[in-house]
Amino acid sequence: MSKPKSGECVKVVVRCRPINEKETAEGHKRVVEMDVKRGVVEVNNPKAPSEQPKKFTFDSVYDWNSKQRDLYDETFYELVDSVLQGFNGTIFAYGQTGTGKTHTMQGIKSNREEWGVIPNSFEQIFQHISQSQNQQYLVRASYLEIYQEEIRDLLSKDQTKRLELKERTDTGVYVKDLSSFVTKSVKEIEHVMNVGNNNRSVGYVSTVKCEGADGENHIRVGKLNMVDLAGSERQSKTGATGERLKEATKINLSLSTLGNVISALVDGKSTHIPYRDSKLTRLLQDSLGGNARTVMVANIGPASYNYEESMTTLRYANRAK
Ligand code: ADP
Ligand code: MG
Repeated sequence: MSKPKSGECVKVVVRCRPINEKETAEGHKRVVEMDVKRGVVEVNNPKAPSEQPKKFTFDSVYDWNSKQRDLYDETFYELVDSVLQGFNGTIFAYGQTGTGKTHTMQGIKSNREEWGVIPNSFEQIFQHISQSQNQQYLVRASYLEIYQEEIRDLLSKDQTKRLELKERTDTGVYVKDLSSFVTKSVKEIEHVMNVGNNNRSVGYVSTVKCEGADGENHIRVGKLNMVDLAGSERQSKTGATGERLKEATKINLSLSTLGNVISALVDGKSTHIPYRDSKLTRLLQDSLGGNARTVMVANIGPASYNYEESMTTLRYANRAK
């Protein structure tokens, strides 16, 4: 696999979930239109119906009829394949709470058709390994949460412990004392992830990391980071104060830093990429830019009452593309 050309290393796609029963019952209308063939999203301002809809174009867009499997095959398969070739890759789900980030990342475990990115990637990884003859792989999984700029190891017995980011000249940035487990099958890695999911109290930022190596003469290690980001809703609107506001400010900082890093990478001309401005971007530094591939899925809701948040998400995603 060749190195992706500059600008090709980051892909931004938008996904809009279906309107749900509650929204229908409450009489909310869909204000989002999508042209899936052209990658275009249009949003109608419910307060100004005569206004031209706001229009955005992305690498791809997925509407309320989109299938998990199609999203995976078209948008993530190649990235996961590049990880098996030794490159790093990062997948983010971004968006307001309730728009489908976790649905996109995890999906519904009991239904194969509804599997999200994480179970599909595990299957792809272990299927690839079982079919490869001359290479040996080692898959290690770790699972962490960054909350208010504090790192917690979701696989550790002691959930009160906070971990530190360290840097070494040979291996780069790493989390000191982070546990990782060697897993030999989809079942094993799923078991590890379930342990982590049970420890996810707030569910803000989590990353899964898999490393593959092939033996004999050289070792290639690819890392796959899968990140279900904190809800992007503007905290000024939620009226949070005190501790809640402090928490919100830190979440906003890490999301805005991520946006700055990705837009600097996409721009390709920036001499300074502000990785150091948040723990998440520092941690993912070797998996964002360079030879690494990144896909960001920006999730939006279809209904009129989400108009402002959907616009904010689309502007963020537009800047990142
Ligand atoms: P978030 O993680 O962004 O807060 P969730 O993934 O929990 O949002 O989604 C909120 C609700 O909407 C869940 O009940 C989820 O099953 C549903 N949902 C989200 N996206 C879709 C989709 N593309 N198709 C069907 N249901 C969806
Ligand atoms: Mg969620």
